Amino acid sequence: MGETPEAFYARVAGSIRRPDLEDWDTWPFDGSVEPRTLEPPAPTDVSREGAGGVGCGACDLPDDAFLWTDADWRVRPTREPAGLPMILFLEPRMHVGEPGELPDDLARTFGPVVARIDRAVSSIEGVERVHVCRWGEGSEHLHWWFLARPSRMLQLASSFAEIWDDMLPPTPADIWASNLAHVRRALEAG
Ligand SMILES: [Zn+2]
Repeated sequence: MGETPEAFYARVAGSIRRPDLEDWDTWPFDGSVEPRTLEPPAPTDVSREGAGGVGCGACDLPDDAFLWTDADWRVRPTREPAGLPMILFLEPRMHVGEPGELPDDLARTFGPVVARIDRAVSSIEGVERVHVCRWGEGSEHLHWWFLARPSRMLQLASSFAEIWDDMLPPTPADIWASNLAHVRRALEAG
């Protein structure tokens, strides 16, 4: 039994909890924060860029905008150097919105591609782990995030790494270029 958005909101709005975020090792901020008031359900859901493949920025990109491609998948970095040593996006070549919409032949090649990217990014000097995420709320074209987490930077572990990325200064251009070249070679090597 599920809940309508209105029933969900009615149940939770007055019972918002307050986790001890300041005590979490990975919490990026000092000082107290207060939960925002939870807004009621919107009249419509988010509208995503490239919905239905119309005006889709991912579909329109040529292969040379990507770090690595094959018949099914394309991998590209963020447009500008990230705060983390590397952030990559994995996208199917065809316009698909949700993981559940992947044709079986694409779904079968997804696992090997994820493993390939994980091996490539985690082999960058100083990178301990690769966080693999999918939200899918901005642009509709299916894309997974691969965030490189530096070794022994314990505050950057886990989900707040994505917030920390916006707080860290951009990786210097020469290091970013070197990391990109390394990952490209590793992706090509498999
Ligand atoms: Zn697309």
